Amino acid sequence: MAATGLVDEVSADTYRKVLEDLTAHPTRHSFSTTYREAARTVADLLTGLGYATREEPVAVGSRETLNIVAEKPGTDPDDERRLVYVVAHLDSVNEAGGVNAPAPGADDNASGAAGVLEIARVLAAVTARHDLRLVVFGGEEQGLHGSRIHVAGLTEADRSRITMVVNMDMIGRLNTATPSVLLEGAAVSQHVIDALAQAAQDTSDLQVFVSLEPFASDHVSFIDAGLPAVLTIEGEDQLNIDEHTPRDTLTGLDVSLAISILRMNTSAVAGMLGASA
Ligand SMILES: [Zn+2]
Repeated sequence: MAATGLVDEVSADTYRKVLEDLTAHPTRHSFSTTYREAARTVADLLTGLGYATREEPVAVGSRETLNIVAEKPGTDPDDERRLVYVVAHLDSVNEAGGVNAPAPGADDNASGAAGVLEIARVLAAVTARHDLRLVVFGGEEQGLHGSRIHVAGLTEADRSRITMVVNMDMIGRLNTATPSVLLEGAAVSQHVIDALAQAAQDTSDLQVFVSLEPFASDHVSFIDAGLPAVLTIEGEDQLNIDEHTPRDTLTGLDVSLAISILRMNTSAVAGMLGASA
Protein backbone atom coordinates (compact mmCIF):
# COMPACT_ATOMS: atom_id res chain seq x y z
CA MET A 1 0.00 0.00 0.00
CA ALA A 2 1.45 3.36 -1.02
CA ALA A 3 0.12 5.05 2.10
CA THR A 4 1.82 2.92 4.75
CA GLY A 5 5.30 4.51 4.56
CA LEU A 6 3.76 7.94 5.10
CA VAL A 7 2.44 7.24 8.58
CA ASP A 8 5.99 7.02 9.91
CA GLU A 9 6.38 10.71 8.97
CA VAL A 10 3.83 11.64 11.66
CA SER A 11 5.98 13.29 14.31
CA ALA A 12 5.36 13.82 18.03
CA ASP A 13 7.87 16.71 17.99
CA THR A 14 6.16 18.88 15.37
CA TYR A 15 2.72 17.96 16.71
CA ARG A 16 3.74 18.99 20.25
CA LYS A 17 5.20 22.29 19.01
CA VAL A 18 1.85 23.30 17.48
CA LEU A 19 -0.02 22.14 20.59
CA GLU A 20 2.21 24.43 22.64
CA ASP A 21 1.57 27.36 20.28
CA LEU A 22 -2.20 26.92 20.37
CA THR A 23 -2.48 26.45 24.13
CA ALA A 24 -0.21 29.44 24.84
CA HIS A 25 -3.22 31.70 24.15
CA PRO A 26 -5.19 32.34 27.36
CA THR A 27 -8.36 31.41 25.49
CA ARG A 28 -9.46 30.50 21.98
CA HIS A 29 -13.04 31.50 22.68
CA SER A 30 -14.67 32.10 19.28
CA PHE A 31 -15.24 35.80 19.99
CA SER A 32 -11.90 36.57 21.63
CA THR A 33 -9.04 38.47 20.02
CA THR A 34 -6.74 35.59 20.95
CA TYR A 35 -8.89 33.20 18.90
CA ARG A 36 -8.10 35.40 15.90
CA GLU A 37 -4.41 35.25 16.77
CA ALA A 38 -4.54 31.44 16.96
CA ALA A 39 -6.39 31.31 13.63
CA ARG A 40 -3.71 33.52 12.11
CA THR A 41 -1.02 31.14 13.42
CA VAL A 42 -2.82 28.21 11.79
CA ALA A 43 -3.24 30.08 8.51
CA ASP A 44 0.43 31.09 8.44
CA LEU A 45 1.57 27.51 9.10
CA LEU A 46 -0.65 26.16 6.32
CA THR A 47 0.49 28.84 3.88
CA GLY A 48 4.09 28.05 4.79
CA LEU A 49 3.46 24.41 3.93
CA GLY A 50 2.31 25.44 0.45
CA TYR A 51 -1.47 25.27 0.89
CA ALA A 52 -3.76 27.88 -0.68
CA THR A 53 -5.28 29.27 2.51
CA ARG A 54 -8.20 31.61 3.18
CA GLU A 55 -10.38 32.90 6.00
CA GLU A 56 -14.08 32.03 5.97
CA PRO A 57 -16.24 34.42 8.01
CA VAL A 58 -18.74 32.83 10.41
CA ALA A 59 -21.64 34.88 11.77
CA VAL A 60 -23.04 33.75 15.11
CA GLY A 61 -26.05 35.93 15.76
CA SER A 62 -24.73 39.48 15.80
CA ARG A 63 -21.17 38.32 16.49
CA GLU A 64 -18.53 36.99 14.16
CA THR A 65 -15.79 34.40 14.19
CA LEU A 66 -13.97 32.59 11.38
CA ASN A 67 -12.80 29.32 9.89
CA ILE A 68 -9.46 28.74 8.17
CA VAL A 69 -9.73 26.76 4.92
CA ALA A 70 -6.72 25.34 3.06
CA GLU A 71 -6.50 23.42 -0.20
CA LYS A 72 -4.09 21.21 -2.05
CA PRO A 73 -5.19 20.13 -5.53
CA GLY A 74 -4.69 16.60 -6.82
CA THR A 75 -3.22 15.58 -10.16
CA ASP A 76 -6.17 13.78 -11.78
CA PRO A 77 -8.21 15.64 -14.46
CA ASP A 78 -10.62 18.26 -13.04
CA ASP A 79 -13.78 16.27 -13.61
CA GLU A 80 -12.40 13.10 -12.02
CA ARG A 81 -11.05 14.42 -8.76
CA ARG A 82 -12.52 13.43 -5.41
CA LEU A 83 -12.51 15.85 -2.48
CA VAL A 84 -11.21 14.65 0.90
CA TYR A 85 -11.60 16.69 4.10
CA VAL A 86 -9.61 16.75 7.33
CA VAL A 87 -11.18 19.03 9.97
CA ALA A 88 -11.20 20.04 13.63
CA HIS A 89 -12.54 22.92 15.64
CA LEU A 90 -10.02 25.48 16.83
CA ASP A 91 -12.13 27.29 19.42
CA SER A 92 -12.16 26.56 23.14
CA VAL A 93 -14.52 27.55 25.92
CA ASN A 94 -14.62 28.06 29.67
CA GLU A 95 -18.18 26.99 30.41
CA ALA A 96 -18.34 28.78 33.75
CA GLY A 97 -16.75 32.02 32.48
CA GLY A 98 -17.11 34.59 29.74
CA VAL A 99 -15.30 35.30 26.49
CA ASN A 100 -12.05 36.17 28.26
CA ALA A 101 -12.05 33.52 31.00
CA PRO A 102 -9.08 31.14 30.85
CA ALA A 103 -9.73 28.29 28.40
CA PRO A 104 -6.53 26.55 27.28
CA GLY A 105 -8.59 23.86 25.55
CA ALA A 106 -5.67 21.48 25.22
CA ASP A 107 -7.65 18.31 24.63
CA ASP A 108 -10.77 20.19 23.46
CA ASN A 109 -9.58 20.92 20.90
CA ALA A 110 -5.97 22.02 20.41
CA SER A 111 -5.35 18.27 20.15
CA GLY A 112 -7.50 18.01 17.01
CA ALA A 113 -6.50 21.36 15.45
CA ALA A 114 -2.80 20.54 15.87
CA GLY A 115 -3.68 17.18 14.32
CA VAL A 116 -4.97 18.93 11.18
CA LEU A 117 -1.63 20.75 10.97
CA GLU A 118 0.41 17.59 11.47
CA ILE A 119 -1.51 15.75 8.74
CA ALA A 120 -1.10 18.86 6.56
CA ARG A 121 2.65 18.77 7.14
CA VAL A 122 2.94 15.06 6.30
CA LEU A 123 0.85 15.36 3.12
CA ALA A 124 2.28 18.69 1.93
CA ALA A 125 5.04 17.22 -0.23
CA VAL A 126 3.10 14.14 -1.33
CA THR A 127 1.75 13.72 -4.85
CA ALA A 128 -1.92 12.75 -4.74
CA ARG A 129 -4.55 12.11 -7.38
CA HIS A 130 -7.38 13.80 -5.49
CA ASP A 131 -8.01 17.14 -3.76
CA LEU A 132 -7.35 17.67 -0.06
CA ARG A 133 -9.21 20.37 1.87
CA LEU A 134 -8.33 21.21 5.48
CA VAL A 135 -10.57 23.27 7.74
CA VAL A 136 -10.28 24.48 11.32
CA PHE A 137 -13.64 25.75 12.53
CA GLY A 138 -14.69 28.55 14.86
CA GLY A 139 -18.02 28.70 16.67
CA GLU A 140 -18.12 24.97 17.42
CA GLU A 141 -18.70 25.44 21.12
CA GLN A 142 -21.63 27.82 20.43
CA GLY A 143 -23.37 25.15 18.30
CA LEU A 144 -21.29 23.93 15.32
CA HIS A 145 -21.63 27.30 13.59
CA GLY A 146 -18.36 27.20 11.61
CA SER A 147 -19.04 23.80 10.10
CA ARG A 148 -22.74 24.57 9.45
CA ILE A 149 -21.80 27.70 7.51
CA HIS A 150 -19.00 25.92 5.65
CA VAL A 151 -21.30 23.06 4.55
CA ALA A 152 -24.11 25.48 3.60
CA GLY A 153 -21.64 27.34 1.37
CA LEU A 154 -20.46 24.29 -0.59
CA THR A 155 -21.10 24.27 -4.31
CA GLU A 156 -23.18 21.41 -5.70
CA ALA A 157 -20.10 20.29 -7.66
CA ASP A 158 -17.95 20.07 -4.52
CA ARG A 159 -20.69 18.40 -2.52
CA SER A 160 -20.97 15.59 -5.06
CA ARG A 161 -17.24 14.83 -5.01
CA ILE A 162 -16.72 14.60 -1.24
CA THR A 163 -15.76 11.00 -0.45
CA MET A 164 -14.37 11.36 3.07
CA VAL A 165 -14.53 13.83 5.95
CA VAL A 166 -12.34 13.04 8.96
CA ASN A 167 -13.05 15.15 12.04
CA MET A 168 -10.78 15.17 15.10
CA ASP A 169 -12.01 16.28 18.51
CA MET A 170 -10.38 15.44 21.86
CA ILE A 171 -7.75 13.03 20.57
CA GLY A 172 -5.10 13.80 23.22
CA ARG A 173 -6.31 12.67 26.61
CA LEU A 174 -5.89 9.06 27.67
CA ASN A 175 -8.83 8.35 29.97
CA THR A 176 -8.33 4.58 30.30
CA ALA A 177 -5.40 2.20 30.68
CA THR A 178 -5.70 0.94 27.09
CA PRO A 179 -5.46 3.47 24.22
CA SER A 180 -8.65 3.50 22.20
CA VAL A 181 -10.47 5.49 19.56
CA LEU A 182 -14.15 5.96 18.88
CA LEU A 183 -15.17 6.19 15.20
CA GLU A 184 -18.49 7.99 15.21
CA GLY A 185 -20.46 8.32 11.99
CA ALA A 186 -23.67 7.25 10.30
CA ALA A 187 -24.83 4.96 7.49
CA VAL A 188 -23.66 7.54 4.93
CA SER A 189 -20.12 7.30 6.34
CA GLN A 190 -19.83 3.52 6.77
CA HIS A 191 -17.06 3.28 4.12
CA VAL A 192 -15.07 5.93 6.01
CA ILE A 193 -15.52 4.03 9.29
CA ASP A 194 -14.34 0.85 7.54
CA ALA A 195 -11.26 2.59 6.08
CA LEU A 196 -10.35 4.09 9.47
CA ALA A 197 -10.83 0.78 11.31
CA GLN A 198 -8.58 -0.96 8.79
CA ALA A 199 -6.00 1.83 9.10
CA ALA A 200 -6.09 1.54 12.91
CA GLN A 201 -5.32 -2.15 12.59
CA ASP A 202 -2.53 -1.54 10.04
CA THR A 203 -0.76 1.33 11.78
CA SER A 204 -1.56 1.37 15.53
CA ASP A 205 -2.40 -0.62 18.63
CA LEU A 206 -5.63 1.30 19.19
CA GLN A 207 -8.71 -0.47 20.39
CA VAL A 208 -11.51 0.65 18.05
CA PHE A 209 -15.08 1.44 19.07
CA VAL A 210 -17.78 2.39 16.54
CA SER A 211 -20.95 4.41 16.97
CA LEU A 212 -23.61 5.26 14.39
CA GLU A 213 -25.10 8.02 16.54
CA PRO A 214 -23.31 11.22 15.50
CA PHE A 215 -23.26 13.77 18.29
CA ALA A 216 -21.91 17.17 19.33
CA SER A 217 -19.04 17.91 16.97
CA ASP A 218 -18.51 19.22 13.45
CA HIS A 219 -18.96 15.88 11.65
CA VAL A 220 -22.69 16.28 12.43
CA SER A 221 -22.94 19.28 10.09
CA PHE A 222 -21.61 17.18 7.21
CA ILE A 223 -23.70 14.09 8.03
CA ASP A 224 -26.87 16.21 8.26
CA ALA A 225 -26.14 17.28 4.65
CA GLY A 226 -25.73 13.64 3.55
CA LEU A 227 -21.94 13.83 3.44
CA PRO A 228 -19.67 10.95 4.59
CA ALA A 229 -18.11 12.28 7.80
CA VAL A 230 -16.64 10.47 10.79
CA LEU A 231 -15.49 11.79 14.15
CA THR A 232 -12.27 10.34 15.54
CA ILE A 233 -12.12 10.85 19.32
CA GLU A 234 -10.48 9.13 22.26
CA GLY A 235 -12.64 6.14 23.17
CA GLU A 236 -13.79 7.30 26.62
CA ASP A 237 -13.77 11.09 26.21
CA GLN A 238 -16.73 11.54 28.57
CA LEU A 239 -14.34 10.58 31.41
CA ASN A 240 -12.40 13.83 30.84
CA ILE A 241 -13.91 15.93 33.64
CA ASP A 242 -11.66 18.89 32.78
CA GLU A 243 -13.39 19.60 29.45
CA HIS A 244 -14.46 23.26 29.13
CA THR A 245 -12.56 24.29 32.29
CA PRO A 246 -9.22 26.06 32.93
CA ARG A 247 -7.84 22.62 33.86
CA ASP A 248 -7.84 21.32 30.24
CA THR A 249 -4.09 21.91 29.93
CA LEU A 250 -1.15 20.32 28.13
CA THR A 251 -0.11 18.40 31.23
CA GLY A 252 -3.26 16.31 30.90
CA LEU A 253 -2.38 15.12 27.41
CA ASP A 254 -0.79 11.89 26.22
CA VAL A 255 0.88 12.79 22.94
CA SER A 256 1.48 9.14 22.04
CA LEU A 257 -2.29 8.52 22.01
CA ALA A 258 -2.81 11.46 19.65
CA ILE A 259 0.01 10.20 17.43
CA SER A 260 -1.66 6.77 17.17
CA ILE A 261 -4.91 8.43 16.08
CA LEU A 262 -2.99 10.67 13.64
CA ARG A 263 -1.26 7.63 12.13
CA MET A 264 -4.66 6.00 11.58
CA ASN A 265 -6.12 9.17 10.05
CA THR A 266 -3.09 9.87 7.85
CA SER A 267 -3.19 6.34 6.48
CA ALA A 268 -6.91 6.44 5.66
CA VAL A 269 -6.75 9.95 4.19
CA ALA A 270 -3.67 9.18 2.07
CA GLY A 271 -5.37 6.04 0.78
CA MET A 272 -8.51 7.95 -0.24
CA LEU A 273 -6.39 10.69 -1.85
CA GLY A 274 -4.51 8.19 -3.99
CA ALA A 275 -1.29 9.49 -2.48
CA SER A 276 2.12 8.18 -3.44
CA ALA A 277 4.99 9.00 -1.10
ZN1 LIG B 1 -14.59 19.80 21.07
